[in-house]
Amino acid sequence: MSADEPSGDNAEIADGIIWRDGNVPYSRQFGDIYYNPKNGLAETQYVFVAGNNLPEAWQNRENFTIGETGFGTGLNFLAAWDCWQKDPARSRRLHFVSVEKFPLTRDAMARAHQNWPELADISRQLVAQWPTGTMLPGVHRFGSDDGSVTLTLLIGDAIDCYRDYHGTIDCWFLDGFAPSRNPDMWRPELFNALAAASSHDGATLATFSAARIVRDGLEQAGFEINKRKGYAYKRDMITARLAPRDTPDQDTSGKGIDQNPWFVLPKTTGKKQIAVIGGGMAGAACAHALHNRGCAVTLFEKSDHLADAASGNPIGMLEPYLTVDDAITGRFYEAGFRYSQRLVRTLAEAAHIEAGFCGVLDLISGPRDEERQAGLINRLGQSPDLVRLLDREESSTIFGLPLPHGGLFYPDAGWVNPPSLVSYLARGIECHTRANIVGIFDDGDGKVVKSADDREFGPFDAIIIAGATETGAFYQTDWLADYLRPVRGQISYFDEGVLRDCYGDHPIRCVLSHKGYLTPARNGIHVFGATFGRDDSQTDLREDDHAFNVRQLGKVLPKLADVLDPAALSGRAALRTTTPDHLPVVGPAPDYGAYLLAYADIDKGKKAARYVDATYHKDVYICTGFGARGLIAAPLAAEIIASEICNMPLPLEKSLMDALHPARFIVRGLKRRQITA
Ligand code: SAM
Repeated sequence: MSADEPSGDNAEIADGIIWRDGNVPYSRQFGDIYYNPKNGLAETQYVFVAGNNLPEAWQNRENFTIGETGFGTGLNFLAAWDCWQKDPARSRRLHFVSVEKFPLTRDAMARAHQNWPELADISRQLVAQWPTGTMLPGVHRFGSDDGSVTLTLLIGDAIDCYRDYHGTIDCWFLDGFAPSRNPDMWRPELFNALAAASSHDGATLATFSAARIVRDGLEQAGFEINKRKGYAYKRDMITARLAPRDTPDQDTSGKGIDQNPWFVLPKTTGKKQIAVIGGGMAGAACAHALHNRGCAVTLFEKSDHLADAASGNPIGMLEPYLTVDDAITGRFYEAGFRYSQRLVRTLAEAAHIEAGFCGVLDLISGPRDEERQAGLINRLGQSPDLVRLLDREESSTIFGLPLPHGGLFYPDAGWVNPPSLVSYLARGIECHTRANIVGIFDDGDGKVVKSADDREFGPFDAIIIAGATETGAFYQTDWLADYLRPVRGQISYFDEGVLRDCYGDHPIRCVLSHKGYLTPARNGIHVFGATFGRDDSQTDLREDDHAFNVRQLGKVLPKLADVLDPAALSGRAALRTTTPDHLPVVGPAPDYGAYLLAYADIDKGKKAARYVDATYHKDVYICTGFGARGLIAAPLAAEIIASEICNMPLPLEKSLMDALHPARFIVRGLKRRQITA
């Protein structure tokens, strides 16, 4: 926090940190303290909390968002949370967005918090969610037990992260080691990014430093500076307020962030009554995320029960989809897995849903796999909590039966029973089954939806279409039908007795993922599969498909495959919805005609800033296209949509949000001249 020298001779190095006088952390790398060793909490309260006129500033607000640079031990976060929860006039929710380039280990964080027994209860809530091992770059979401406080933590460099984050920050805690110790962070690019990520003119800022480069940098970024007395013996500190900008609420100057106008999100306020069309994993997750934010949600499903399609399978793999580079697709699924894993584990521990965290073994199925797995280990390192590279013998031991190859083992992964998850997510939601919604219309008071049998529901403030391939069946989304493809998937079952007859009493201990997958027994039944029938929208059970699944299984467990008769197997077939770029479609529904008019000459290389912002079908959102990865993508996608609708901090960086934006297909089509106006 400031460049004071650490005091005390009792130093010990643990978790990459020097600990002085017991539990006071000191950074070896920056040669600076994390916080005032004498009274860190009091200094935080003085500099950051009071410096931003808290608690007054959050009073009588629905949501209030604090942004921070340098999460460190999380002391500032805990101090703000503590002050907020003691304030009877507090906002309904508190959001804290922070960035950290060198995250502390869980043990180090817990140790630093021991200095403040008065914060023990909230510290426990944070520490319990903090990963035990490697924290990958990207956005991580944590929350208080009761959901009223959220922490959105960007792991990476402060400048890069805030340039790529669509912020709605009301006030800033500008922390970080002293400018003299950390000059790479305190740069004009950072101050510009903070101004751009602020929610409104008048957003405030406080920092312990009164250094010239901080004052000048903030001023140039548009903040009005105020010097005030620093904490205890320190002479000065700075508070600041964002001066009115030329284009309120949005920075189009390109100074702070790079925003393409075709992906600028619509402004929303006060959406309360929400309709969700589609009762699968995506729809139920959206309903749950909005219900958690205090919205009244109505869910419509055309069949007679929820989880009727792909999410009706008895078992789904909860396996990370990691890529060798950290390109967009891999980053999204990494974040999605993290989010789902935490959600599923919490719900399973509370016995709300059925899931097993037995680990997933991703077997090498050929030379390309071998190369991919080596590349992954190269990028991620052998981090035993996240992924381990196993040879053939180790794989066989972990799996419980002899296997032909080694592979990657994900210890935190496993399986879920998707119907139990869908049914939990839909708890407390008004559900209409046998309601085949075919139209969305405006009436004077909002949106109404109409069913095929001419029933009318509404009005609603916003509608989310989460109807798999049928998401493109509305006039607002008909253009999207060209990009959504059904892929038929059939899974097959066999009884655990069959396995015993083959291999004796050696139960399978983890999920096996190869060209297909095989799960441990659930209720005495093993599931294996699955087929990929492109552009096939039939869900009849086929012997040929069982035969395909058996052949795939035979490549890793030939003895078992030999005794499975495709003609005698049972199973289930369902449709997944895929997109050309293998990413889901998540966000507001673009007005196709308006896009063609506004961006017709986008292929000509004009500067993005010269175009108008995107036009949408007001209050209509899309959430579909999860392919076979609904379990690791739909819960995060739902968080995105709910955050957009409720104007809360987004759980992903902007580049990923843009990659999921429904309009990406239109923009790409225009750029490649595959679409013409
Ligand atoms: N706010 C913290 C707390 O409550 O404990 C103390 C912050 S400590 C003084 C500074 C933090 O900034 C360190 O955790 C450090 O790793 C982080 N940091 C330094 N340079 C950074 C950068 N360029 N981007 C992101 N984080 C950075």
